[in-house]
Amino acid sequence: MIKWLEYRNSNSKDIVKRSEGESVRILGWVSSKRVHKDKIFLSIRDRYGYLQIVATPEESSDNIFNLAKTIPVESAIAAEGIVKHDPRAPNGVELRLKDLIVISKADIWPVTKSALKSPELMYDKRHLTIRGPRSRAILLIRSGVIKAAMEYFEKNDYVLINAPTFITSAVEGGATLFKLKYFDDYAYLTQSSQFYEEAAICVFEKVYVIQPSFRAEKSRTRRHLTEFWHIEAEAAFADHDDIMKVEEELVSYMLNYLNEHYSGEIKTVKKSGIKIYEPPFPRISYDEALEILHSKGVEMEWGEDFGADEERVLSMQFDTPFFVYGYPASTRSFYHMNDPDRPEVTLSSDLMAPDGYGEITSGGQRIHDYNELYNKIISFGLDPSQYEWYLEIRKYGMPPHAGFGLGVERFMRWILELPHIRDATLFPRTPSRVYP
Ligand code: ATP
Repeated sequence: MIKWLEYRNSNSKDIVKRSEGESVRILGWVSSKRVHKDKIFLSIRDRYGYLQIVATPEESSDNIFNLAKTIPVESAIAAEGIVKHDPRAPNGVELRLKDLIVISKADIWPVTKSALKSPELMYDKRHLTIRGPRSRAILLIRSGVIKAAMEYFEKNDYVLINAPTFITSAVEGGATLFKLKYFDDYAYLTQSSQFYEEAAICVFEKVYVIQPSFRAEKSRTRRHLTEFWHIEAEAAFADHDDIMKVEEELVSYMLNYLNEHYSGEIKTVKKSGIKIYEPPFPRISYDEALEILHSKGVEMEWGEDFGADEERVLSMQFDTPFFVYGYPASTRSFYHMNDPDRPEVTLSSDLMAPDGYGEITSGGQRIHDYNELYNKIISFGLDPSQYEWYLEIRKYGMPPHAGFGLGVERFMRWILELPHIRDATLFPRTPSRVYP
């Protein structure tokens, strides 16, 4: 058995610092191979990226040269070679192959050129196609999105909590709930951790979660998943304006963080890089948004919610993220606080991405008064007994508070201009896909 450490005294990142002529070893996968008459180019992928390895009959023994020639792509290997700095090599450095050990030989790669043209086939083989440079870069950027959000919240004194996945009361309405058998009873998969965050702010004042939410979305769009990662935050002693500031600061922080730490990966996905926006973002009311839509020929009445089509038209008019605030009470869940100066609208907003991308966050001030919440639940035709514990926290010192949720994949689709939201996640879940 190979002693792994002995076979990894370098890697695709470290190698640029190594001296010309030095002998080094790396572990990785053969991501691609080009065979010429007297030269074989292997591109080796490891945790850090890619490295070019060159085999020639002069520098490699016959056995090693032939092995390099015949090795199937995606085989896991250990390689030893001599460092050669060469501006023509992808990172300005390559290894001239001396020794090659096949640790795990790959079968013939099943993703053919024609499969590349079919998104469905590509996603049937997602367990393999994630190895490509584009998926690899997107998934690394995704890890950066989560790290950036955590860093922002930690710097701002928020406490990370974890909320349950099995729940009994709907946050966002019954239409998109996944119901499942829970022993002799039924439970649902969580749509949002907001209610649990609201309980926790009475301990920590400011909390956040980063975990999956589930929506049985019937609409098959390019911006909906049935399982998505939700960055949510809730703050006590805060109002709607306060939480909008947190949202724009967070978005800007994440953009700057990604630009600083993931510029290479971003270029792999989007050559022009990502755009950076600094707060404050413009704010327009629902009424103003409706006027814009009417002026663009969209027919809809006051009190109707904006769907994907309306958001696209609206956000085409902006080249920076912008808030739409003051949504009619009829378009928002029961827990939203009505505006005391204008009770037909709520103290709520959506942050819209520009250029047609539409909603990326949704937030607002929650009702903190017991009676007000109880009456709103009744007025929505809901059963207060379904919300017993959620109501009860209002009996024991619930201060004014506000919060929001941002979908990780939605955010990524926007900044990287991905054709479909499924590209932003490792193994996407959509109405037609729970495999692999
Ligand atoms: P939409 O109207 O776009 O379906 P929503 O109003 O139902 O979204 P919220 O319940 O407010 O969304 O969720 C907060 C955020 O979570 C959204 O702004 C979005 O970023 C993300 N999100 C919501 N639903 C989905 C989904 N099905 N797939 C991916 N992300 C989602």
